[in-house]
Amino acid sequence: MGRTYGADICIVGSGITAAMVAAKLAQDAPAKRILVVEAGGWSTAPAERPRARDRWLAYGENPWQRDHLDDQNALGTTWGYSPNLHVGGLAMHWGGVAPRYSPEDFRLRSLYGVGDDWPIGYEDLEPFWLEAEQRLGVAGERGPARWDARTSDYPLPPLPVNWNLAQLRAAVAKADVATWSTPSAKNSVPYDGRAQCQRCDTCYPVCPTGAKYTPDVTWQQLLAAQRVELLTQVLVRRLEAHPATGRIVAATGNGTDAAGTAVRIEAGEFVLAGGFVWTAHLLLLSRDARHPDGLANRSGLVGRYLAGHRNVGGYLRLPGTVVPGVNQQHSLVSHQFMRAPTDRGRYLRHDLRLWESAEGREPRGRDDAGTPLYGDRLLADWRARAGGATARIRAYYDVLPHRESRLVLDPARTNRFGDPMPRVAFRDDEASAANRGWQEDRLRALFTRIARAAGGSVLKLQNSANDLGQEHPAGGCRMGTDAARSVCDPTGRTHDHENLWVAGAPAHVSASCCNGTLTFAAMGLRTAAHLAGTASPRPAS
Ligand SMILES: Cc1cc2nc3c(=O)[nH]c(=O)nc-3n(C[C@H](O)[C@H](O)[C@H](O)COP(=O)(O)OP(=O)(O)OC[C@H]3O[C@@H](n4cnc5c(N)ncnc54)[C@H](O)[C@@H]3O)c2cc1C
Ligand code: SF4
Repeated sequence: MGRTYGADICIVGSGITAAMVAAKLAQDAPAKRILVVEAGGWSTAPAERPRARDRWLAYGENPWQRDHLDDQNALGTTWGYSPNLHVGGLAMHWGGVAPRYSPEDFRLRSLYGVGDDWPIGYEDLEPFWLEAEQRLGVAGERGPARWDARTSDYPLPPLPVNWNLAQLRAAVAKADVATWSTPSAKNSVPYDGRAQCQRCDTCYPVCPTGAKYTPDVTWQQLLAAQRVELLTQVLVRRLEAHPATGRIVAATGNGTDAAGTAVRIEAGEFVLAGGFVWTAHLLLLSRDARHPDGLANRSGLVGRYLAGHRNVGGYLRLPGTVVPGVNQQHSLVSHQFMRAPTDRGRYLRHDLRLWESAEGREPRGRDDAGTPLYGDRLLADWRARAGGATARIRAYYDVLPHRESRLVLDPARTNRFGDPMPRVAFRDDEASAANRGWQEDRLRALFTRIARAAGGSVLKLQNSANDLGQEHPAGGCRMGTDAARSVCDPTGRTHDHENLWVAGAPAHVSASCCNGTLTFAAMGLRTAAHLAGTASPRPAS
């Protein structure tokens, strides 16, 4: 015997994008009944997190033991961006770093002759970035106006630039690099009923105090106010389209608990907020006789143009003193290179981050000659090497998505219900592939120039930890004005089904060169505003 539910609006997923969509709809469409469906259950509760942190520090034990479903995972990428199926999704684990994209991100074709322009611009997202920053509680410092287009201050004062970061800021300023406190969804002051950050430095993997925003906060608030119904441990496996109108009439699936009960949800509007993997996957799975390639897929672009970025990083030895272990997860950021001019037709845009580091200065068991060190000799060796200053430096650079950067259904691997799992393969577009070596060389040269200008040297340089996946991935249901070249319109509504919406990461055209989650949240808020009918008309540009 199955269970049937009814709602005005059904939201698939309970990650950070879904939390923003639900909060916005609860506010802007107060008469609507909102039902949220999440494949996983609740994982480590706030009261359990201090102990989970202790056990992680003592034994390396995973603080989130109930965050996944064993048989529901994407293949082909080792970045681990698909398995987090629990209330709150991936942002239960995130580091909370919350920068915005830059105005150039939306006009890459116009400005640099590469990739594709978005159908919306920075100014369209501005009010929704602000709203996301308020809802998450982002602490930040405005960058210099020419590199930071935001129109008002952050809702929370910046996380402090402590002694260590002040040393690093002064050092890189000698190479004309301007830096500011990295915007972060961490409470620099008590906010929204949550504590002030205690700088205990375990934001990843778990914040024991609640100072870092996680989406379960929003769900608890909405549930307490009885503004949403949240169905946990229910995997949506199909969307059903009406054969004549194309409207989505129901989402169907099964419990992911032992009973596996069949579930049917009938609603007036459906919002897909399942993140970059599972949104395209669900649309492809929902194929029927009229839609043999999946729903919303008249363009053939569902699952294509998967986007993200890579990085080049390293460690710099600098003059002065940096004391490691003070607040290693907070950093300085610069966005001045996101506005880079073209260089003889070549193209490089990137962000820049700097952290305190103990690289090369840790205690060690053997000296340079390989002789074992014990007791006083070990301490003396450590003392001799511990002085000075080391910085970790990293730049995310743009990687433009190829049409074949793609998610497909892989019949060789199925979940317990027999559904094929997604196979993901990223691919750079021609411009990115041709420029990659040159771009990475330029970044290494920049790091060397910064170290030298500061009177220091490069300790070590390295590329992204792995080449299979990309960071802050997005895409798979790109937005556009032309139904033949995009999956959803600039509001997130799919071209093919008038009551089906794609929220957040999947609707991206490209994925900038900085952390993307704040923009996923802002895109979700914008889609919710259009669904609720409360979005302001677009200002004339
Ligand atoms: C260790 C780590 C650190 C990170 N740090 C940062 C950072 O500092 N800054 C930053 O910008 N980003 C960071 N990220 C990335 C960030 O966490 C993600 O970009 C973001 O959380 C994605 O949110 P989302 O809403 O798009 O999707 P998700 O978080 O993937 O949420 C989707 C949810 O929908 C559910 N779902 C999907 N399909 C279905 C279905 N068919 N039926 C039912 N439920 C479904 C899933 O179970 C999941 O809970 C980090 C990620 C990791 C892993
Ligand atoms: S430093 Fe500690 S208290 Fe602050 S956000 Fe990170 S984990 Fe939470």
